[in-house]
Amino acid sequence: MSGSQNNIAGTVAVVGGGVVGCFVAYRLAAMGVSVTLLEQEGPGSGSTGDSAGNIQPASGDDDAYKIALGAESLALWRRRFPQIKEIGGVDFGEQDVRHLYAATNDDEEREVRRILGDMTAAGLRAEWVDGATALEIELHLSGSITGGMLHHDCIQMDLRLFMVALSNAAEAEGVVIQRGTQAVGLDVTGGRIKSIALGDGSSLECSSVVLAIGAWTARAVSDWLGFDLPVEPYGLQKLHLSLGTAAPLNCAVRWNGVNIVSRKDGLVHAGSRFDSAGFDSQPSAEAQEWLLGGVAAIIPGFQPSGIETIAACAASTPGRIPLAGPLPGIEGIYLAVSSTDGFLMAAVLAEMTAELLVNGEMHQLMDLSPLAQAKTA
Ligand SMILES: Cc1cc2nc3c(=O)[nH]c(=O)nc-3n(C[C@H](O)[C@H](O)[C@H](O)COP(=O)(O)OP(=O)(O)OC[C@H]3O[C@@H](n4cnc5c(N)ncnc54)[C@H](O)[C@@H]3O)c2cc1C
Repeated sequence: MSGSQNNIAGTVAVVGGGVVGCFVAYRLAAMGVSVTLLEQEGPGSGSTGDSAGNIQPASGDDDAYKIALGAESLALWRRRFPQIKEIGGVDFGEQDVRHLYAATNDDEEREVRRILGDMTAAGLRAEWVDGATALEIELHLSGSITGGMLHHDCIQMDLRLFMVALSNAAEAEGVVIQRGTQAVGLDVTGGRIKSIALGDGSSLECSSVVLAIGAWTARAVSDWLGFDLPVEPYGLQKLHLSLGTAAPLNCAVRWNGVNIVSRKDGLVHAGSRFDSAGFDSQPSAEAQEWLLGGVAAIIPGFQPSGIETIAACAASTPGRIPLAGPLPGIEGIYLAVSSTDGFLMAAVLAEMTAELLVNGEMHQLMDLSPLAQAKTA
């Protein structure tokens, strides 16, 4: 364990072994806390395993506050990479990518320039380029591009390898990971958490619990504690495009809601398309056609050799703002729930949760007091 001693008595339980739960557990343990992580399958088996692995502030119609939070998280990712790589012992192929947010008309330009203003205000590196410059950067692009924002502060990685490194690093710091262990209830006595009921009939005593169960949050917290939380399971479909003999892309491209990013090994992700089926999302011809149409319209010169459609589910929260902090009315229960860009937000969620538990420092995001009204039982 690399962290110093702290005043937390007993074990902190983290429920959920996605990127958020593993990152929270890793940071708590690195700060000297005794941590047990409960994961019903294996690390990365939820939404994380289907993520494109982009750490990309401003990947949707985010406002200035959300973009600034993304910038904060990106800086923490950069700070934590070397140690996770070294302790985790796995190269997960992270790379800086240039990301062109393309515009083809006045309305699109206005929106991209608004994002550019919010990004530079947040200290992120981005600049406006005209259409001719965009075409010089990426030869395959459509001539209809009138200009765009070149975003230099994006990182891409192989998320499955990253999850191996992160869970290795967490275990090396002392986290006990209980794989295949499902939490089925919480025992709250005298207004504070006492233990977690497990699927095999046993229980785990803990001094605090951090719920990092992504899209499962609303159902679990309603069943266990009677809260009605604004977290929805949000179905998403994306494409994996193989390069074959096609030339690799010189930069990532975002246009009309489609994000097209090359991984270091050449695989291109194009996503995502909303799917109202949520947890039951299945690959569909309609989603594939919509995504391929977006790719063909903005990068007509890119001809992938193979196409695979992936359907998955992530949590969605209002304004894509994470829900994090102490659950009102019960001592010792914390939420760490991201929205549809939870890979980006994992580092800041982990840091703010660890700082709160260990040092009592409350990040400004962490005010969950309005949720007191959401108690239904
Ligand atoms: C197609 C797609 C592409 C995406 N691309 C990106 C991207 O490029 N960048 C980005 O930032 N975000 C992306 N996202 C979103 C991102 O994947 C998620 O926001 C993020 O992975 C959420 O992490 P998490 O740890 O909160 O949740 P999850 O990864 O879903 O982890 C929750 C874990 O909790 C476990 N669990 C649930 N209930 C219990 C229980 N009762 N007991 C024990 N364990 C339990 C589950 O098994 C699961 O492993 C994408 C999502 C999708 C679907």
